[in-house]
Amino acid sequence: MENFSFVNPVKIIFGKDTIQSLSKEIPAGSKVLITYGGGSIKRNGVYDQVVKALADFEWNEFSGIEANPHYETCMKAVQLIKEKNINYVLAVGGGSVIDATKFIVAAACFDGDDPWDILSKQATIKDALPFGTVLTISATGSEMNGGAVITKAETHDKLSFGSSKTYPKFSILDPEVTYSLPMKQVSNGVVDAFVHVVEQYVTYPVNAMIQDKFAEAILVTLITEGPKALETPENYDIRANLMWASTWALNGWIGCGVPEDWATHGIGHELTALYGLDHAQTLAIVLPGVLTVLKEQKAEKIIQFGEMVFGIYNNMSKEERINETINAVVNFFEEMQVKTRLSDYGLGQEAVNAVSNRIKERGWKLGEKENITADTVRQILTLRL
Ligand code: NAP
Ligand code: FE
Repeated sequence: MENFSFVNPVKIIFGKDTIQSLSKEIPAGSKVLITYGGGSIKRNGVYDQVVKALADFEWNEFSGIEANPHYETCMKAVQLIKEKNINYVLAVGGGSVIDATKFIVAAACFDGDDPWDILSKQATIKDALPFGTVLTISATGSEMNGGAVITKAETHDKLSFGSSKTYPKFSILDPEVTYSLPMKQVSNGVVDAFVHVVEQYVTYPVNAMIQDKFAEAILVTLITEGPKALETPENYDIRANLMWASTWALNGWIGCGVPEDWATHGIGHELTALYGLDHAQTLAIVLPGVLTVLKEQKAEKIIQFGEMVFGIYNNMSKEERINETINAVVNFFEEMQVKTRLSDYGLGQEAVNAVSNRIKERGWKLGEKENITADTVRQILTLRL
């Protein structure tokens, strides 16, 4: 196991009818800004619950945060915060609203020249406004981590940052609010959480048994409950297990003492930035390619993954077990109704060229061994045409 330090300061409030408790979490007298997306919270009653819980506070709202949130949109919220002297933000939504809010609270206190430097130059975040979240979709784990991904619409750059200053103070997780999700978003959430775990688990081996067993528990939960959620949309226990599994997939714990890959996310972000695919769609395309091209480096863990998560063992050769495991991953994504090839989304060779050129321009070397160059990305995506 590798060395690590670990802290996660986020208070989780989980369960039915928990939104009302948010008034106890925000300090009395705070001037609150509610941030949200395109309006799903108005249609499913979450907005009304939040407004009721904030009855004793002075509050304003900022809506219209898009999926794959834009830097340009975030900067409008920063302006509003300054105009209204806001000192607490409440994000109500999914990964996009929560990520945008992390950037907003950091940019509102940024003392450098240009807040985009937080993303493009990893400028240090010295301070940020406090914020809490009401989660409405299980997927990203953003509700219990300090990371965020923001897109500059002008240049199609989708970049991430992370800071100890941008952890939520609390997150309210009521699985019932996810009943109103379109099935496509349920599928996307399961695939995203699944890939988060794989990026921290299917690497080169370091004998971190406790992290491996946690990772396997999350993956088994996702492959068992994910398909059930599509068949039985309003089942509380299924939604509760998916919500908690997604949070644990990226709250830092399973990443303790292990190498982390993140190549699938890095390549996927370029596909979203250039072609507008959903985050999970890009991951479903890229992950099978990464596992195939990196199969020697990752051999031992792919075999363990196949055995412990998909039950692939017996007298097959190692090579066959690896191939069967990668097939099982593709089949799971397809079972979750997320397509796994570039051509499924109308993309071809031009996308392979464009993404590998961008990795080259950025000079990135991805993966747990930083050995995935632009040429490797070309190989990975060519397999996914
Ligand atoms: P999302 O982009 O926040 O939301 C997707 C869609 O679902 C939106 O159109 C939203 O509509 C709708 N929606 C949300 N909750 C709903 C509900 N309860 N009922 C009906 N519709 C609902 O989805 P996400 O997958 O959580 O976030 C994706 C973003 O997170 C991407 O930008 C990705 O790169 C990023 N990400 C972040 C991390 C991290 O650790 N920070 C990790 C992985 C990915 P409305 O806009 O109308 O609400
Ligand atoms: Fe993700």
